[in-house]
Amino acid sequence: MSKYKDMDISSKVIHAGGHPDKETGAIMPPIYQTSTYAQSSPGVHKGYEYTRSHNPTRTRLEECLAAIENAKYALVTASGISSAMLVVQSIPPGSTIVVGDDVYGGTYRMFSTIFHETYNIIFIDTTDLKLVEKTITDHKPKLIWLESPTNPMLKISDIRKISSLAKKYKCKSIVDNTFMSPYFQNPLELGADIVLHSMTKFINGHSDVIGGCLMLNDKKHYQKLWTLQNSLGPTQSPFDSWLVLRGLKTLAVRMEAHQKNALKIAKFLESHNKVERVLYPGLKSHPSYKLAKKQMKGSGGMITFFLKGNLGQSKKFLSSVKIFSLAESLGGVESLIEHPAIMTHASVPASVRKELGIHDNLIRLSVGIENCDDLIKDLEQALKKV
Ligand SMILES: *Cc1c(COP(=O)(O)O)cnc(C)c1O
Repeated sequence: MSKYKDMDISSKVIHAGGHPDKETGAIMPPIYQTSTYAQSSPGVHKGYEYTRSHNPTRTRLEECLAAIENAKYALVTASGISSAMLVVQSIPPGSTIVVGDDVYGGTYRMFSTIFHETYNIIFIDTTDLKLVEKTITDHKPKLIWLESPTNPMLKISDIRKISSLAKKYKCKSIVDNTFMSPYFQNPLELGADIVLHSMTKFINGHSDVIGGCLMLNDKKHYQKLWTLQNSLGPTQSPFDSWLVLRGLKTLAVRMEAHQKNALKIAKFLESHNKVERVLYPGLKSHPSYKLAKKQMKGSGGMITFFLKGNLGQSKKFLSSVKIFSLAESLGGVESLIEHPAIMTHASVPASVRKELGIHDNLIRLSVGIENCDDLIKDLEQALKKV
C-alpha cells in the first residue's frame, strides 16, 4: 500500500485499487463476473482459481480499503455481520470476549443468541475505563469489542487507552468503525488491532449493497481470517464489490456533506421546544465532546434525539416526515429516520434497552446529503404535528 501512503484519503478513495485495466486501458475497473479461472496446466494459474477464494474486482476493493485505513491487509466479506462472525471465529472457542454494551443490534444478537454458547461473552460499558481495566484483569479476555461511537446512543470509548490496556494483557482489540467511516476515524492508528466496517453504510454510501470489511496489520491474523472466510463462505459478489468501489470514490465529499448537514440539524433540534435532548458528537453538550475531538476527525452524520412525549407521539412524528424515509440502516446519500426500540434494536431485550436509555421517545437520524434547509423544514413540519 506504500504507493498511496502519501496521498490524502480524498485521493486514495479514487486511486487506490483504481489503476487502468492492463488489457484494454479502461479507466474504470472491469467487473470480473466469473466463478472460476482457466489454468494453463494443473495448478498453474494467475493467482485466481475460484471466486469464493479470490476475485480481481474484490482484490481492487481490498487494496483501496487497506489504503484508506492505513492497513497492510483488508478482507471484504458478504456483510458487516459476516466480518464480525469471522473475527469471533478467529478467537479460540471457550475464550472470554468483552463487548461494549451498546453495540449495533445485530452484533448484540450475534453474541447473545449464537456465540454465547461457545464463548464467554461479557457486555460492559466501555466508556468506563476503570470497569474496562477491572474486567480485563479479572476475566483475561482474548478479545475486546468496541464500537465508537455506538449505535444508537453515540457513546464514545477511548480507543487509544483501551487498546493499550488490552495489549498489556495480551488481548486483541477490534473497533467497529462503521459510524465514522475511515474518513473521520482511524482506529488502527489509535492502537486497535482490527477495524471492522459494515460497507453497507457510509463506505458504499448508496444503500444498494450489503457488505463488510476488516482491516488489520497482523499478517498471521489476516491469513487466519482469510482461511475462515474461504472455508465458511461469506464472500462478496464481484458486482457488489464493484458497486462499493464506485461508491467509495466520493467518500470524502459525502462525509463532509453528511457532517455539515448533521451539525446544522443537531443545533436546530437542540433549540426546539418539542425536543428533550440531542446526542451528537459535534455538539458541546455531548458527554464525550472532548474525547470525540481528540480521537475523531469529525462528528459524522448520525444524530440521536429524544422527543418530549410518548410512543404515540414518536409514531406520529415518524409517520409525518416526508423527505426522511422511515427505514432501518444508515450512511446513504438519502436521509433516513428510525425508531430503534421498535426497529433496529428490537432484538435487544426491553430491560437492556431501558438500562441503555433506548426509550420509546428516542429517534435516530441518518442525515443525508440533500439540501439542509429542505431537511430542516421537513423535521419542523413533522414536529408541529406532535
Ligand atoms: C449495519 C451495521 C453492522 C452490520 O452490518 P451488515 O452489513 O448489515 O451486516 C455492524 N455494525 C454497525 C455499527 C452497523 O451499523
